[in-house]
Amino acid sequence: MSSCIRCGKELTYNEIGAHKKFINRGSTQFFCKDCLARKLGVTVQDIDRKIEEFKQQGCTLFV
Ligand SMILES: [Zn+2]
Repeated sequence: MSSCIRCGKELTYNEIGAHKKFINRGSTQFFCKDCLARKLGVTVQDIDRKIEEFKQQGCTLFV
């Protein structure tokens, strides 16, 4: 399992998906949801909401 390149927290499948979706699909290193939210200037709830939307669209980056 990968860990966040910023804080070292272990990453979930959806966090990796979120990083790919929001930052760069070709990334091999990832931020956790908290670090991603901070970087994008949004809240973790915003990220969660987006993940839900992508899931409903059938995006395979999320479970
Ligand atoms: Zn982190």
